[in-house]
Amino acid sequence: MTAASAARPSPAEAVLSVRELTKTYRAGEVDVRALRGVDLDITSGELVVILGPSGSGKSTLLNILGGLETATTGSVFYRNQNLTRASEKQLTEYRRESVAFVFQFYNLIPSLTALENVALVTDIASNPMKPDEALDRVGLSDRIHHFPSQLSGGQQQRVAIARAIARRPDLLLCDEPTGALDVETGVLVMEVIERLNSELGTTTLIITHNAAMAGLGDRVLRLADGLVVSDEHNEQRVPPHDIRW
Ligand code: ADP
Repeated sequence: MTAASAARPSPAEAVLSVRELTKTYRAGEVDVRALRGVDLDITSGELVVILGPSGSGKSTLLNILGGLETATTGSVFYRNQNLTRASEKQLTEYRRESVAFVFQFYNLIPSLTALENVALVTDIASNPMKPDEALDRVGLSDRIHHFPSQLSGGQQQRVAIARAIARRPDLLLCDEPTGALDVETGVLVMEVIERLNSELGTTTLIITHNAAMAGLGDRVLRLADGLVVSDEHNEQRVPPHDIRW
């Protein structure tokens, strides 16, 4: 899917529907209002870039969407399931079956090879890809027996992406996936994420504070001070190597 639809998704086709979502953290005597009323629908297969300055609420939003944190008020529906009313058991199942995260730091196990790092999650998934297929999809078929310390930062991030997609999640949530990488390597990693979204149709959300990435997605959401301040569809995705960083 390269061309973006200009129409806003109707809630009926939404993978995620967010309504009046708020999150307040208590920090000592002070309340920090990280999200102050977010409304959002994410359509199946979309590649969505979430932009905003540090502290605008991006990670809080992603963590709530991924079932890692709970909302203070408001609702999040994943397909027909109300995550904000879900039991701990249902949330665990949601995290295990439907969502995968990619973080800025790769969180690989140093004593395991690339293949073993991926196999660790596919061993417990219900319909996984073969670990070597997942690594092939991120361009690392010649590195499967390397340990993380023998791989560059970009390669380690690609192992982390292979590990994420090998479970065939419905949703891929990426929190600053290129934040620790130089520009050239960041482009390669974004190309992998973009290509996997096209090939597998996995609904993908990417958080970044880098405004240059706005064109990469089908859609770009801007957050400021805990609110969505703009929500735009790109007519066409800009390939990562054409982005001016
Ligand atoms: P972003 O990802 O855009 O940098 P965050 O979602 O991490 O923003 O943070 C939004 C706001 O919530 C910030 O003011 C941050 O300091 C605050 N915050 C985030 N997590 C916590 C926490 N666990 N406890 C207290 N405040 C937090």
